[in-house]
Amino acid sequence: MEEKFDVIIVGGGIAGCVAGYLLAKNGLEVLLIERGSAIGVKNTSGGRIYAHSIEPIFENFAQIAPIERAITSERLSFMTDKTNTTINYTSELSQNKNELSYSVLRVKFDAWLGKMAEEAGVNIINGIRVDDLITKDAKICGVKSGDDEMFSDVVILADGANSTLCQKYGLGYTLNPHTCAVGVKEIIELGEDRVNDIFNVNENEGVAWLFAGGVSDRKMGGGFLYTNKSSISLGVVFGLHSTPNTNVPQLLENFKSHPAIKPLIKNGKTTEYSAHIVPEGGLGAIKKISDKGVVVVGDSAGFCLNVGYSVRGMDLAVKSAELAVKAIINAKQRGDFNDLSEYDRLLKDSFVLKDLTLYKNLPHFLQNERIFNEYPEMINGIFRDLFTINGASVPLKNKVLARLKSVGYLNLAKDLFTGVKSI
Ligand SMILES: Cc1cc2nc3c(=O)[nH]c(=O)nc-3n(C[C@H](O)[C@H](O)[C@H](O)COP(=O)(O)OP(=O)(O)OC[C@H]3O[C@@H](n4cnc5c(N)ncnc54)[C@H](O)[C@@H]3O)c2cc1C
Repeated sequence: MEEKFDVIIVGGGIAGCVAGYLLAKNGLEVLLIERGSAIGVKNTSGGRIYAHSIEPIFENFAQIAPIERAITSERLSFMTDKTNTTINYTSELSQNKNELSYSVLRVKFDAWLGKMAEEAGVNIINGIRVDDLITKDAKICGVKSGDDEMFSDVVILADGANSTLCQKYGLGYTLNPHTCAVGVKEIIELGEDRVNDIFNVNENEGVAWLFAGGVSDRKMGGGFLYTNKSSISLGVVFGLHSTPNTNVPQLLENFKSHPAIKPLIKNGKTTEYSAHIVPEGGLGAIKKISDKGVVVVGDSAGFCLNVGYSVRGMDLAVKSAELAVKAIINAKQRGDFNDLSEYDRLLKDSFVLKDLTLYKNLPHFLQNERIFNEYPEMINGIFRDLFTINGASVPLKNKVLARLKSVGYLNLAKDLFTGVKSI
């Protein structure tokens, strides 16, 4: 007789592991299939997780999970090829655990989540790729891997941004060059003391630093730097459609050799290099997220939000997994897995779809190349004028106006108006 599970989960990233953990805790029989040789080895993030969605699931999670540092310093930089202007905001750790955020290394963090899921009772198979879904009477009822077939009441697609299964079944995210960015990242080992010294942070406290401008070849995109315990995560993300001929590794090399970055990584040793798609198309790129016998969670559903000063996908992955589990448990009680639309309703009431709705016009706004080109030039130009004393007596306001004029008053007004409207 064929073995049947309550739920099969495709993908052991954050969304898949959290879904598995919660289902098993509720007594369901779960199989999680991950194509990587171990949980976490295939996964990439810039590296900052916002605690608000994971804290209610794993209370005091920062004490039990392998987090790197609590973020206490936020930096935002506007770069040209040679200059850089940085805003630096530092704070004390909030007393509200839901307001904290942490740098994480996915290899360690996802492995921990996988262990939590396994200890809760999830059956995990690594090193196997799900090739297709099985359907019967228009309902999804299992998965295929090579010649093997495995059956379940529900399949959760948690297979990430590049989900071939979603594409085949018209589910999840609309994947095309206009809705995707690509991210490349290195982990550079510096030593714990050096990280503390260079970034001026206390032990266990860290920096989240985002960059706009020259870093993405002046096209849609940006750079990021997160401090880990003894290393940094340094990378670039850029829109696929805006840079079709870009040499991706070269962009990262250019970033690393920028005068604002080079001294930071001097004598550092690259210990990991990875690249990954980021589903940045926003609300408009999300298709169907539930159907008969199937729900889509995390990146495969397109639940990712880049608002320029923050990149979020992990907290959305956690919440969508939690809500999918709720809908599946209720469906099991009703004995009807054909209708999983409760998941859609729960999402609509949660921050996941509320935030994606709030920023629904942002992907379009961010296609404006002035944001990555003229504005960083303008900002750096203003600061150059402000701090350059050379004996020429030109009123500062004239210098500033000249910089604004270089972008064009009409452009400034237009971009300000559309920018404000899209947030
Ligand atoms: C460069 C970069 C920087 C980012 N920075 C941040 C950040 O700082 N903060 C933040 O919150 N988010 C960030 N994100 C987004 C975040 O990484 C994702 O939103 C998050 O990883 C989504 O989790 P997930 O579980 O949905 O998918 P994933 O983590 O991609 O997991 C999917 C899993 O499915 C497996 N899989 C895929 N296909 C199959 C198959 N057919 N069979 C079996 N297994 C399969 C994969 O191996 C993988 O383990 C960043 C992303 C990138 C690329």
